[in-house]
Amino acid sequence: MANKIALIGYGAANMLFAAYLINKERVDPRRIIIIDPYHDGGALLRQWACVRSNTTYRQFADALRQLDLEAPSVEQPEEPTPLQQIAHALVTAVRPLVERTDKYFAKVTECRLADGQWRIRLSTGQTLQAAICSLAPGAEPRILQTGVPQIPLATALHLPSLQNYICPGSTKHVAVFGTAHSGTLIAENVVAAGATCSLVHLGPQPFLFASEGAYDGVKQDAERIARSILADGLGGKVTLVQYEQALDVHAALCRADYAVCACGFETAAPSIIVDDRPLETLKGLPYNPATAEIAPRLFGWGIAFPSKTTIDNRTYVDVSIPSFTAHILAQQERIHGIL
Ligand SMILES: Cc1cc2nc3c(=O)[nH]c(=O)nc-3n(C[C@H](O)[C@H](O)[C@H](O)COP(=O)(O)OP(=O)(O)OC[C@H]3O[C@@H](n4cnc5c(N)ncnc54)[C@H](O)[C@@H]3O)c2cc1C
Repeated sequence: MANKIALIGYGAANMLFAAYLINKERVDPRRIIIIDPYHDGGALLRQWACVRSNTTYRQFADALRQLDLEAPSVEQPEEPTPLQQIAHALVTAVRPLVERTDKYFAKVTECRLADGQWRIRLSTGQTLQAAICSLAPGAEPRILQTGVPQIPLATALHLPSLQNYICPGSTKHVAVFGTAHSGTLIAENVVAAGATCSLVHLGPQPFLFASEGAYDGVKQDAERIARSILADGLGGKVTLVQYEQALDVHAALCRADYAVCACGFETAAPSIIVDDRPLETLKGLPYNPATAEIAPRLFGWGIAFPSKTTIDNRTYVDVSIPSFTAHILAQQERIHGIL
């Protein structure tokens, strides 16, 4: 069938894009190729399943409804839920739509545009062709050069796994970098595991609160923990350290048995080549968040290619299922024109 559409990476973002194509654009699912090594629902289930969402269930369900998807009803829709629940609801809602799509269990290593077609090379050695590509490969936590053994972010967010590093009765100290949603939850986990924590924040204010109007500020569980840290350092176990104070950070790292980096994400996208020219520069791929375009007929979504919002000269990346949905719907006219 001509004019195939390739979805590269099948986490939340491309699940939403598949729903958009099929429900809103009436694309025949047999036109769609989906390539992912796992097809399991992406990082929400694989890495962050135990984390409680920072969005309420209602926000999630409303986002799904905008793509004509149904989320099962829950008793407390105004509450956050474990991401596992959100992931399962999303997978279950989209599954019947993508039954007749063409699925490949592999990684894409290269996308090359020539003669109006994308040639997509897979880790299995196969090459596929598509007229349109949608790239949402997710992102890995950014790693800082701390010089101290690091506990992976997903491990630190899951208390039983964190306890493998912090044995009961030992006197361990953990330096946690980042005071957004994840870093704040991890500080609580570190204390619950029986260790002490240096919590390193960027800028003079340790926490920004959504309830005080900060765009992307901490909310829900993270707000509760942040307020306890400000009140008494979670019973004196958490010390706040400002990242710009080099000697304080140095002292925290000298004390630390482990560090955790909860300070952003970076993407490992496949090589993108247009007319024999690689698009990647030292700054990454030339992605325009306003149009979601990386190259002609190559769109980027999700945590790897999010929409951005600038307020008071500060730019925020919008990373949530409601914002992914809004990002896709904002490109409706452009996408409709090329389908
Ligand atoms: C700790 C944490 C908490 C979050 N909490 C919330 C929340 O409460 N509410 C909310 O709405 N959002 C939340 N998010 C944000 C967001 O919903 C998730 O990050 C979501 O998993 C991002 O979806 P994605 O599709 O961009 O990436 P992913 O889910 O990572 O999916 C990417 C997929 O691409 C595949 N892949 C990677 N490279 C290739 C390749 N080369 N070829 C083929 N496939 C590839 C991967 O195997 C993966 O399946 C949270 C994020 C984090 C990190």
